[in-house]
Amino acid sequence: MSTAVHQTSSVKDYFKGLFNGVTTTFKGMWITFKYVWAVKPVSIEYPEVREVLPERARMRLFNDAQNCISCTQCAMACPVDCIYITSEKLPENAEIKKTSNGQAIRLKLTQFTIDTALCCYCGLCTTVCPTECLTHSHDYEFSQYTIDAMKYDYLAPDVRAWRDRIVKV
Ligand code: SF4
Ligand code: SF4
Repeated sequence: MSTAVHQTSSVKDYFKGLFNGVTTTFKGMWITFKYVWAVKPVSIEYPEVREVLPERARMRLFNDAQNCISCTQCAMACPVDCIYITSEKLPENAEIKKTSNGQAIRLKLTQFTIDTALCCYCGLCTTVCPTECLTHSHDYEFSQYTIDAMKYDYLAPDVRAWRDRIVKV
């Protein structure tokens, strides 16, 4: 009698285990299928597809040096001291040009370099710029092989070409 009861219980356990195995397999497969067909993908096929950045995204900085008055406010505001500016006085009789927002350019900008390897993209430098010539671009593809190459000289001749390439300044 006890042997028969024991056998019945083993058969029950067998089918119970079989049922659990099948149902949990289907549960797992359902989660997989849901992600394949029903859930919108969160990744993109970069670089063929590029993400559209938010309007105010802060990527590589750009200085439109023609409108820079060498006031150094950006360098003073920078929390990591990664903006290097030098300038010199214009000769007495030099023509005083104006920026696009009407500010007099009384100094000649001789260096404007940002060490992008140090920059934390806080945006403080752009906030204080009185001529709004320093802005964050939407360019996030500027990896380099060396740390030194992350220093960008905004008076270099290739800066205009870079500006023309980027989507938004
Ligand atoms: S974004 Fe911030 S860290 Fe980068 S250069 Fe401007 S002030 Fe400095
Ligand atoms: S704050 Fe603007 S105008 Fe002044 S030095 Fe910096 S980039 Fe030039």
